[in-house]
Amino acid sequence: MGVSVSTSLGPFVIATLPDMAMAPIDRALRLFQQAFGGEPAGVWSAPGRVNLIGEHTDYNGGLALPIALPQRTYAAVRVRPDGVLRVVSDGMPGGPVSVPLTEVGPGSPGGWAAYVAGVFWALRDAGYAVPGADVALSSSVPVGAGLSSSAAVECSVGAALSDLTDLGLLADLDGRRRLATVCQRAENDIAGAPTGGMDQLASMLGTAGHALLLDCRDGSTQAVPFDLAAHGLALLVVDTRAPHALVDGQYAARRHTCQEAATALGVSSLREVGLPYLAHTLARLPDDVTRRRVRHVVTEIDRVGRFADAVEAADWRLAGTLMVASHESLRDDYEVSCQELDLVVKTAMAAGAWGARMTGGGFGGCAIALVDAASASSVEAAVLAAFAGAGWSSPVPFLVTPADGAGRDQ
Ligand code: ADP
Ligand code: MG
Repeated sequence: MGVSVSTSLGPFVIATLPDMAMAPIDRALRLFQQAFGGEPAGVWSAPGRVNLIGEHTDYNGGLALPIALPQRTYAAVRVRPDGVLRVVSDGMPGGPVSVPLTEVGPGSPGGWAAYVAGVFWALRDAGYAVPGADVALSSSVPVGAGLSSSAAVECSVGAALSDLTDLGLLADLDGRRRLATVCQRAENDIAGAPTGGMDQLASMLGTAGHALLLDCRDGSTQAVPFDLAAHGLALLVVDTRAPHALVDGQYAARRHTCQEAATALGVSSLREVGLPYLAHTLARLPDDVTRRRVRHVVTEIDRVGRFADAVEAADWRLAGTLMVASHESLRDDYEVSCQELDLVVKTAMAAGAWGARMTGGGFGGCAIALVDAASASSVEAAVLAAFAGAGWSSPVPFLVTPADGAGRDQ
């Protein structure tokens, strides 16, 4: 059973510490009953994601290849007639946050509730009539680890609102794409995190047994079969637990540099710079930092296409080589890695992985390694030993397989 604790927010506000032995869907249901009374109209969930390759390409109109994760955020939801949103999460301290929808806007409400309220705001801004609601969240997606717990929150809520107000956006790819855009606007405009569209697209459009090839220039997507077990492979995620904060200035600074470079080159996005023209293009840029940032983006977009082809051809040696090249580009040219991520990659490769790289925005968070299933535990052990040897706190390794995108569970 969970433990009830009183909070400073008032005598009626009770938060329940999550009982991690319970499935998150049951935790969401129980939290709903405790926080709001009665039953929700249903429970919806959406996955976190891990990106196989194609980092910092989404906001440059490029390619990326994420998978949806088995780790999901569950939202138990019931609409309210009074235009008020109340939301509680067992991943966040304190009781329910309550806000009239008319008061939701950039910076309001602040904190984690913005990721939920923002979805209501963005749906309304897109012209959909969305009522108030009670929302209880429980998640198995690690928060702030680069696995997109934020998109999992937004997409679980977006899925619930689509169903509860008969928007029908989950029914086909086009509707799911539109809902992903709504969720991205919630994150950009209301939570104030200037992220690209990859996270929400992966959470909305991912399918079990497949990676999702995203073309962020036109929003088109393609499911790429990625059946790890059939090939005797495993995908190891290592959460370094090194702190990561996308809302800080680094991510925005990278975006800004890319935008300035595109403007200087007279193109709408760096996607328009083809690899054959890279040397010529770099010579037109004003400084070494900008040249390195652009070189990462252009070579990374090229690597995504070649990686997808390698997966299709089951050429794991080539796929692995491209993963390591991606990591080195992110480390040296884009400068978003850190020593913990570098150590995971170096150790996994020395222990026999096909490939390894940092994943997500960087500056901490997670690395991934593509390994033979039979060697997954020895690679994991080598990484744990390397961190212990460096005197760092233990990372959290786990295996993942591609899962389905957002939907109704109950
Ligand atoms: P990431 O998406 O990589 O996990 P972000 O910094 O983009 O990291 O998003 C993390 C933020 O999303 C949290 O600080 C919180 O505001 C919100 N969030 C994520 N998961 C939950 C959850 N289960 N309950 C409430 N808020 C959450
Ligand atoms: Mg995020």
